[in-house]
Amino acid sequence: MMPSMIIHAATGNQDKVRELQSIFSSHTLTAAEQFSCLEDGDTFFANAYKKALCLHAQCGQTVLADDSGLCVPALGGAPGIFSARYGSDRFARELSSEERNAYLLSQLDAHADRRAFFVCAIVLLFDPHRYLSVQETVAGSITQEPRGSGGFGYDPVFFLPEFGCTMAELTEEEKHAISHRGKAGRLLSRMLHVYETQEHIP
Ligand code: IMP
Repeated sequence: MMPSMIIHAATGNQDKVRELQSIFSSHTLTAAEQFSCLEDGDTFFANAYKKALCLHAQCGQTVLADDSGLCVPALGGAPGIFSARYGSDRFARELSSEERNAYLLSQLDAHADRRAFFVCAIVLLFDPHRYLSVQETVAGSITQEPRGSGGFGYDPVFFLPEFGCTMAELTEEEKHAISHRGKAGRLLSRMLHVYETQEHIP
């Protein structure tokens, strides 16, 4: 069994770091507060891998990077990898989460098919040629109007049929138990455990 590692997380988002730290509880996650990297990949995985490579080039140690977003098949998969800046082109400025959600609802006005899913890709990179990666999803549908004040981003417009409420109406624990990021993080943590027990880690 390998000793506890320090894992550098390629994000300054404290909510993400808290969630991931609770999953990788036998290791210490540190947030790269000032980290930024051009996310110009064309998949969630490509962006997560690129962020991991950028941070590894800076710190030379094991890093963890994620990329996530919302996909709506009726909109051709949008907002997808552009989730964080959805609508910015149209309005020539960055939108607030509330404005982005309103824009999404307006784009879906003419559509009966409101299915949607969140995606999260995570890469745990030991060096540029050795990494573990996983991608997970959670399925739901887009509401007619926002509901709830928890979570962030698209949570108020993301309806979960099995809970009968939006993601923003769940507690933090409930969200983490079913979310794309929680599922991906827990799976990756189990994969890391296999690596550790097989002594593949430097
Ligand atoms: P990031 O690049 O992984 O930080 O996420 C991109 C964008 O996807 C965020 O700015 C949110 O708009 C959206 N997103 C990702 N995960 C979630 C979530 O769990 N709830 C709501 N929105 C999310």
